Amino acid sequence: MNILLFGKGGQVGWELQRALAPLGRVTALDFDSAGELSGDLSGDFTDPDAVAATVRRVAPDLIVNAAAHTAVDKAESEPALARLINATTPGRIAQEAKALGAHLIHYSTDYVFDGSGEAARDESAATNPLSVYGRTKLEGEQLIAGSGATHVILRTSWVYAARGGNFARTMLKLAKERDRLNVIADQIGAPTGAELLADVTAHIARALRQNPQLAGLYHCVAAGETSWHGYACHVIERARAAGQEIKVAPEAIVPIPTSDYPTPATRPLNSRLETRKLREAFGLSLPAWEQGVDRMLAEIL
Ligand code: NDP
Repeated sequence: MNILLFGKGGQVGWELQRALAPLGRVTALDFDSAGELSGDLSGDFTDPDAVAATVRRVAPDLIVNAAAHTAVDKAESEPALARLINATTPGRIAQEAKALGAHLIHYSTDYVFDGSGEAARDESAATNPLSVYGRTKLEGEQLIAGSGATHVILRTSWVYAARGGNFARTMLKLAKERDRLNVIADQIGAPTGAELLADVTAHIARALRQNPQLAGLYHCVAAGETSWHGYACHVIERARAAGQEIKVAPEAIVPIPTSDYPTPATRPLNSRLETRKLREAFGLSLPAWEQGVDRMLAEIL
């Protein structure tokens, strides 16, 4: 398979370079790839024409797009840039995919929902994004779906990776420095590893080649649920058990409501996503969120 990967330096993109490698030749690009190994190719999503020309030049069988404007709070003050990166350019890629007959795999987010209620949402649930990030990601989904390209969109949530900064690392640092931590306890979701997303993507890429009828929108998150507070407690207790010097006592990790921690972008409270459609269509089992988090901790502790 001839594969074109965008966003190779991100959490998911980095893992995709590993997971897609056995499937064929992977041309992996990032924002600033122009002029590197990639010759005339561009992975800069602020330039949809250059990205479209890149797709035509590589003429891939499969495009995987892991590039996105993921700075949720910053997006509130730069909506035009967020729209270009999250919607316009993915839409152009989808048009090129359609013209070439290439398959496209793309990622979206639980932030397309307003997070009301307590039930897990499936793929047919009504969207109602609360933020610029959520709105632009939803527009990206719609442009891809409307392009007629054979595509899979995976909506996921609370993505982490061992590489780079992440919530667990931040909590561990604070737990070593402070004797009290306030952590949001009324946003519920499933921390999902970039490794898991990349492995599921590789599986889907192969299955889609065999059966393009599997194309569509799917929810893809680790099993189970927690709050940011539950996630922080889990990470800190694992570090304590591993012999790390943790200053904060378990009872001093204080659950707080979202309203006590105002941010520019409004986040959904209920990020539960129902994954049955994905599991049944592709014959997959999604591990409990703790499994991936413990694996990541084994790497970073
Ligand atoms: P990252 O932020 O780790 O990676 C995004 C990548 O896109 C980075 O390499 C980033 O480069 C790149 N990028 C930013 N601006 C541009 C641009 N102008 N042109 C090209 N590339 C650019 O995100 P994740 O790996 O976590 O996200 C992967 C997918 O999953 C995205 O579609 C995201 O919306 C979705 N998702 C992520 C969630 C999360 O919690 N992170 C939750 C739900 C969905 P640089 O680092 O240089 O800015």
